[in-house]
Parts: sequence; C-alpha cells; structure tokens
Amino acid sequence: MSDFPSRRRFLQRAAASGLLLSAAGGTASALSPPIPHKRRNLLLITVDTLRADHTGCCGYERSTTPRIDQLAREGMLFDQVNVQYGLTWPSLASIMTAMPVQLHGVKNNETLMAAGTPTLGTSLDDAGFHCGAFLGFAEKQRWEGFSTVDGGRHLDDGQLTSRFLEWFDKECVNADAPFFGWIHFYGPHLPWRPDPAYGALFSPEPQLECGSINYQYQISYEQRSLQGGALRDIIDLYDAEIRRTDDCIDQILQHLSTAGMLDHTLVAVSADHGTELYDHHNYGLHWGSPYNGVYRVPLVLWGPGMVPAQRLVSRPVRSIDIAPTLMDLLGQPAPDRFMGTSLTPLLAGDVPPGPPLISEYSEGKILIVRDGDQRFIWNPQRYQNNVIPVQVVEEFKAAGIPGGQFRMPLERYELYDLREDLKEQNNLADARVAEVARYADLAAAWKQSLASIAHGVQNETIDDEAHRESLKALGYL
Ligand SMILES: [Zn+2]
Repeated sequence: MSDFPSRRRFLQRAAASGLLLSAAGGTASALSPPIPHKRRNLLLITVDTLRADHTGCCGYERSTTPRIDQLAREGMLFDQVNVQYGLTWPSLASIMTAMPVQLHGVKNNETLMAAGTPTLGTSLDDAGFHCGAFLGFAEKQRWEGFSTVDGGRHLDDGQLTSRFLEWFDKECVNADAPFFGWIHFYGPHLPWRPDPAYGALFSPEPQLECGSINYQYQISYEQRSLQGGALRDIIDLYDAEIRRTDDCIDQILQHLSTAGMLDHTLVAVSADHGTELYDHHNYGLHWGSPYNGVYRVPLVLWGPGMVPAQRLVSRPVRSIDIAPTLMDLLGQPAPDRFMGTSLTPLLAGDVPPGPPLISEYSEGKILIVRDGDQRFIWNPQRYQNNVIPVQVVEEFKAAGIPGGQFRMPLERYELYDLREDLKEQNNLADARVAEVARYADLAAAWKQSLASIAHGVQNETIDDEAHRESLKALGYL
C-alpha cells in the first residue's frame, strides 16, 4: 500500500483528534448494528472538478471540505481513485455504468448513452428504489431509471440543493420504497466566481477576473508563466467554490438527519475529475490533460451499519468500481455488464496490492496506466490535443494578443514515480525501458480486448441547440 504525504497527514490529524485510525483496516467491530438491506437508501454526491489534493481528508491544509472530511473520518476514504476519463459526460457515464468509455460509448459531452444500457440508476429502479437525479451539468444525458431528472447550469449549487430537498421532502420522506438520490454539484467547475462571503474565506481581496474560462485560455495561448501571487489568486477562487459545495453537502445531510433518514442512508461522495492548476505546461483546465491532478479524485463512503468507520485505503482503485460497491453495500446484485468490481473486500482487513488500472484520454488515443505509485502515459501516435477552442483562438488573434493555439506537448511515453514526484515533473521513461514496454503492452492488450466486445454499441449525439450553446459558453466547442 502506498504511503503518500497526504496519507501521513491524514493519519496524524486523525491521531491528533483522538480518532483511532487503522491503516490495516477497520474490523467488523467498527460497524454499528447492521441495517436491514430493504431499509437502506442511497445518496450519491459527485462534485465536478474536485481534485483529491484540495480536500482536507486527502491532506489539503485549507478548510475547503470540513463536511466531507467528517464523513471520511466517520466512514471510509479511498484517497487514490482513478477516474476513467477526465471529462464530465464520459466520466459520469463510467461511474454510473461501471464501464470504460469504449463500452458505454459516451466519448464527449454530447453523446448519449444507448437506450437500455444498465446503470446504477436502472439497477436500483429495478430493485424498487425511488430514483431522482439532480445534476448541475449532464442533466441532458439519457439517465434511464430515474423518475426525476432535474438540473442544469442555470442552477447554482444552492439552488440545486433546494431542488433536491424539495423532491426528498415530497417523494422520499415516509415513503415505503427506499430512495436513490444522485446530486452532481457543478460549483467547482470553471468559471470560478464565488459568492463574496466564500471568496473572502481564502483571500482578503479575491481577484474575480482570474476565474473566467477565457482568462485561463489566455494564459495557455500566451504560454505565460504565472508570476508571484497570480496562481494563488486563481487557487483562492477554486478553493472558495469547493467550500461552497461542501456547505451544500452539509445542508443536505443535516436535512436528512432532521427527517430521521440519514442513519438509514448510504452516502457516497466522489468526483468526475479534478483539474490542472498550472502543474504542467502553463495549463489550468481539466480537458486536455492526462495528469494526476485531473485523474485522481477522492471517494468517501459513509453509512452506519453499512460502512466501517475510520478506515483509509490508499491503494489506487477505479471510478468504475463505485457503482458495484454501492450495489454490494445495498445488498443488491450488480448487472452482468458492469465491468468494475465491488471494493467491499477492502472494507476490512489488509489491503493487498491491486492490479494496474487503465484510464483513457482523447477518445482512447492516449491511455494511462496506474500501477501502485507508478503512473504511465502512453501516446503511441504522439497525438497533441488542441485545448483552446478555435473560436477563442480567433478572438485572441483579432484582439492582437500574441500567442497561438496550445497543444498539450505529450511525449510518446511518460513514466512517473509518485512516491518522489507527486506532480509528475520528472519523466523516467528513458531510464526504465523495461517498465515502459510492459505497460505499453498492457495498455494495448486492454484496448484490443475492449474493442472485441464493444462492437455494436449504438450511441447518438444529442440534438439540442441549447445544449450546444451551453458547451460553447464553456469553451468546449
Ligand atoms: Zn466535469
């Protein structure tokens, strides 16, 4: 099991607060009396653009996530979760289907899942759960199994919280059926323009102009190194947005507690991806980067009688394992087509090293292998993504700004050892040829094996002008 500085800090903090935290694992004695399966509800919270290392439970020094941290202390934290793909729709589809992108086919923010695709939603609907999804983005994806799908970028996290709680009060409290509520908070996604009360949390004078998407694009376009406090100004805004989302999570949990429902509810908190924060090539967005700031997210599981308390797993796991784990904890069988596997064997006892895990980038042109503390990026075609939309480049040109389209300059092979190089600055590929060959073979075999079973998946592109305008506003098109 890896031993990152963040984990050590977590352990130190837990010890300082009087908690007994066992890296070797909680035991059955750490569980409260079991809750009968038929009474268990599920609350899944995914946070857009939440880097693991900007959460307190994963070692961040700022108080960005006090409520998530509390859940982690009282429940279980996986602090090395690899998302399948660093983009919202593909990543959320992978979380919900427990499949890689190649199998569910949602390769961008416009592609719909094929009708009839089994998901966490359809499975729990079949099991008699009352399912509602409240999504700050991706509400126009085809989410079968949910009787209510609400949301959109016009709602901030507070408004989304209100929509969810209205649904909960009206349709879940005192209902015979258990509920499955899924909330996808969008606040930490760009643009970062926190409410003044939150902006002031981390900066006496928040520099709101730094939080626009175009500001970030311009830095990449100009290939401008951030000097002095400029990066700090950007991070202050990002952290403030995270704290706002965390307060919404607190509000929801308090509401469920007051309703007497929380103790029968399995709570899971994770993210669709993180973000670059100028760790590589003066780039600060999430699409277009295969690095760990984008691909590593936290997963917190909490539930009295369902999840052991005070347990940390630092072995890398996959976001496609989330849905099978939740089904398992709810006592429900997972569909055969789920490719992820339940993490419940890691809930107690020692955690053996896991197998290498593979994530995708740029529609599978680039594959990423995570093997313990090693991280390998394989780019056989030397593909370089244009990360600034063409129209934005044209606007900058028209304004006479010196610079040009930015392409993430990835090598054919990149290998990093996270034990010594958390920010992936020192490419070891030339020095470790045997490992590079082994990981490249592994990734190629993985892709080929999926291609043999992916044949026949039929996806459509969404036909919705408002959605296209929304993507343009975000700079995706
Ligand atoms: Zn996202």
